[in-house]
Amino acid sequence: MRAGPSGLALLAIVVPATILAAVGYVSLRQWGLSTELLFREQARDMAAMAAGKLDMVMRQTDYQLLGGLQTALLAPGDRARALESWLGGASLVRSLVLVDRAGRVLYPETPETPDGLLAARLVAEVGAEFWDLGGHRDVVVDDLVVVTAILRSREGAPVLGALVRDVGELRRQVLEKALGGLQAPTIVAVVDHADRPIYSGAPLDRADRVATVSLPGGLSNWRVALYQPAGTSPRDSVRRQVMIFTTALGLLLVVIVAGIVATLRVMRRESEMARLKADFVANVSHDLKTPLSVIRMFGETLEMGRVTDEVTRQEYYRVITRESERLSRLIENVLDFSRIEGGRRRYDMLPTAVEPLVRETIEAFSYPLAQQGFKVELSVAPDLPEVPMDADAVAQALANLVDNAIKYSVERKAIAVAVLAEGPWLCLSVADQGIGIPRQEQERIFEKFYRVGRSETQGRRGSGVGLALVRHVVEAHRGRVTVDSRPGAGSRFTLWLPLAHA
Ligand code: ADP
Repeated sequence: MRAGPSGLALLAIVVPATILAAVGYVSLRQWGLSTELLFREQARDMAAMAAGKLDMVMRQTDYQLLGGLQTALLAPGDRARALESWLGGASLVRSLVLVDRAGRVLYPETPETPDGLLAARLVAEVGAEFWDLGGHRDVVVDDLVVVTAILRSREGAPVLGALVRDVGELRRQVLEKALGGLQAPTIVAVVDHADRPIYSGAPLDRADRVATVSLPGGLSNWRVALYQPAGTSPRDSVRRQVMIFTTALGLLLVVIVAGIVATLRVMRRESEMARLKADFVANVSHDLKTPLSVIRMFGETLEMGRVTDEVTRQEYYRVITRESERLSRLIENVLDFSRIEGGRRRYDMLPTAVEPLVRETIEAFSYPLAQQGFKVELSVAPDLPEVPMDADAVAQALANLVDNAIKYSVERKAIAVAVLAEGPWLCLSVADQGIGIPRQEQERIFEKFYRVGRSETQGRRGSGVGLALVRHVVEAHRGRVTVDSRPGAGSRFTLWLPLAHA
């Protein structure tokens, strides 16, 4: 019956939470995608900017080199020597080849070198158009980038000059200067025509390439590439955000569900407590009414003088006394219980002789015990010392146990009370052969107002505070109460009180 509302409550939380999670996830993804788009756009802009700068610097460098070369070519005197001396100063040039239109190698003079062999290939690469129009451009020959330009010889004939750049020097003298200043979380790199990195602002291992841009002049077939260091890409950060969001939401859900469960539990306990209290009031009223009506009936009968027989009269007096005693016990129990609840119950611990206390307590039940045909067995160990205790409280606890033993015995009416010392404990036990207590109830019977299932329908009245009181009394003595019981076989309750003050 209760699963309904609690299930509904859970649903009321889980459904909105799931929707929230889904909406959160979708919007995070959207945000992630647009961030990534924006980021890629920015990266492309940045790469284009770097490419523009690089293009300009490279062009300038090439112009300077080619200008120097042209000057050396026009210089009077020995051409080879002039070129050698120019080459000596141009650290950016790894090697130089000069070819005339007929394909003759003018420089170096020993064309068997690998660079010299290049010449023939170059002549084949550049078409007639290039010879006519002039200018300069990069040509790739056998994986080598060669700057080619049409120059003029002293004689006025066109000469094809080819410069192979020294990449190491270029990196140091040009690239680092041009691109090193670009501060960004991204890494700017230059890759060659085969996509091999020539230069990078930082190590590229495990970095993702996010943009590649060619140099705008088309002069060099190098390109500028922009990398994202590992773990810093927008996708990674979105993934992290999604994870944080999901974890937080999950935690929130767990907390909410735990809160609901705890609240439901408290509510359930409260409503059960309210029911138990209502039962308690009904039970106590009934318990009070029964002895009262007996007293009243017997009192009235005596008052009217209807009983002439002295023995019967004595019997009636005894009934009245016994019922008043029961009434007092009952009221005392309830009052004590309310004192305990209000924290006002006090205990006066005094050394007490145990045997007389136990005997007197049992004595008080002699009439109902005898009347209902109970066999009572009392065994008290000899030489028990005086034990520090609140005698009234312990007597009351014991009386509650005996009262229960009487109440919950049906066919075999036998009660055994034993008192003995065991280690540092004084054990007071009351055993019956009554209805017994199911295992799973044995802990709960000590709770206030708690009564085992159908004990009231079995015609036994009770307030349900007796055992709660017993437990409180023994705990106030730093002792405990245990129960050993089997349904149908009977129960044994034992009070364990310390023999001496701790
Ligand atoms: P009550 O006034 O109902 O007897 P108690 O606190 O004394 O309240 O006991 C709590 C419950 O424990 C009882 O309702 C009964 O079900 C069970 N109980 C207590 N003593 C015995 C016993 N000797 N035999 C069987 N059941 C018992």
